[in-house]
Order: sequence, then structure tokens, then C-alpha cells
Amino acid sequence: MLSYQHAYHAGNPADLHKHMALAELLGMMTQKTRGISYAETHAGRGLYDLASPEALKTGEAAGGVARIVVDPATPYGRALGLARDLRGQAAYPGSPLIARLLLRPQDRLTLMELHPGEHVALRAALAGDGVAIHRRDGYAGLLGLAPLLPRKGLVLVDPSYEVKSEYETAAEFTRHLVLRWPQASVMIWYPVLAAERHADLIGGLAPLPHLRHEVVFCEAPARGMTGSGLLLVNAPHGAGRIFERVLAQGAGVFAGPTRVGT
Ligand code: SAM
Repeated sequence: MLSYQHAYHAGNPADLHKHMALAELLGMMTQKTRGISYAETHAGRGLYDLASPEALKTGEAAGGVARIVVDPATPYGRALGLARDLRGQAAYPGSPLIARLLLRPQDRLTLMELHPGEHVALRAALAGDGVAIHRRDGYAGLLGLAPLLPRKGLVLVDPSYEVKSEYETAAEFTRHLVLRWPQASVMIWYPVLAAERHADLIGGLAPLPHLRHEVVFCEAPARGMTGSGLLLVNAPHGAGRIFERVLAQGAGVFAGPTRVGT
């Protein structure tokens, strides 16, 4: 099923949580000169326009990126500033573009996007040296390519959870991926809903060492999502500290109580 379009939700509080954590992680993982692999199973279109009819229809960015003053000295602030400088003030970088803007020539990106229109847009926004873009099912595609080179890597798993079984599928994919590619860290985003559907995801990841971080939104977007969660499997050393920085940067968008732990 491919009815979900991220353009309606770009820049909302959940995006901010995921994108700030991603930027912080990439900042940490690129401190040594050796290159890394960055991969996404569900990339989206890479670049969004917050003045588009889709974004204006839901107005979700108003409770997210439009609500805060982003510090340009943070990795997220650097990526957002660069995207706005390059593409205009209404530009909002999705996760692949944030990675592209923060990674270095020795790093590699591998991006999977199945939706034909989103795939074309992703190519237009990101194609270039060091970037491989595939129109494939992200789970099968990445399992087929893993382990990637360079071996040290970060994989973002960001499905739209249109079907309930997606929580279990994401966990199963992650278990298989880290068997094939033990040097990869995997960050999985999930929505916090009243129905607590993410229990299947958490249960499925129980055998793997992981960190978990949840925030509650000050102003929840529609569709019953009250908060946002991230799971970090095979977390790089010291990665727990990024979540404190994300909370500080997102003050005004994220409210307590938050859940931090394993
Ligand atoms: N990661 C993006 C970001 O933060 O900017 C947002 C991704 S959006 C939540 C999910 C994307 O996954 C959609 O663009 C959708 O078309 C795509 N998608 C859905 N099923 C897929 C699949 N099986 N494989 C690859 N992409 C898929």
C-alpha cells in the first residue's frame, strides 16, 4: 500500500524528533576520518516545501519546525540552514537530505523508496556522487545489499505504518539486518498512539541491545499521534547523550513526560 505521502506531514513534531536525533547521530559518527555508510529503507522525497498545498492543508509544521528557533551551531541547525540557503526559506529537508548535507566525501548513502513519484523527486533532490537511489522495497532491498561498504554504518527505518503488521515487519527486518551487518547501528522511528501499537515493535526487538527515546508533543498533529518514539539498535558508544541534546533543541515542541531507557 503506497497511499501515504510525507509532504502532508513534513516538519511536524515527529519529524523534528527523528531529524534532530539523526543529525546528532551523524555528527557523532563522522568525528573520525574513516568513512561511514548511511542507508534508509523508506527515504521519501528528500526535500519538502512547507509552502506547498499539501503542507498548508494540514499545517502540521506549525506545531513543529515553525515553532522553534533552531540553533545553527547544532548538526540539525546546520542542515536546516544549508537547505534553506540552497532551496529557499520554505524548504524543509527530509532525512536523506539532512544526511547528504552532513556527510563527507568519504561517506556513502544508499536510499530505498518504492513510490514512483516520490522516487523521481528523491532522485531530483539528491542524485550525485556517493549516493545510490533504488526504487525497491526497502526491507528486501537493503537485506540484499548488506553489509554495505564502508562497514561502519547507520540505517534509518522510517515506515509509514499504514498496516498494523508493519511494527512486526520492522523488528524482523532489524533482527535479520544486524546478523548480516553487525557493524550497522539501526534507528527505527515509530508513532506513539493511544492504542500502543508499537508494543509489537518493542517486543520484536527485545533480544537486541537497544536504546529507546519517546517524547510527548506540546501540540499533537491530527491522526491520534500523541508522541514520537525512536529505537536505536547497536547504538554507537555514547549515543545515549544525543537524546538530552534533542530534548533541549526541541523545547516548546516536546513536552514531558518522556521515556528514556532500554
Ligand atoms: N524518512 C523520510 C523523512 O524523514 O524525510 C520520510 C519517509 S515516509 C515516513 C515513508 C516513505 O516510505 C514514503 O515515501 C513511502 O512512499 C515509502 N514506502 C512505503 N513502503 C515502502 C517500502 N516497502 N519500501 C520503500 N519505501 C516505502
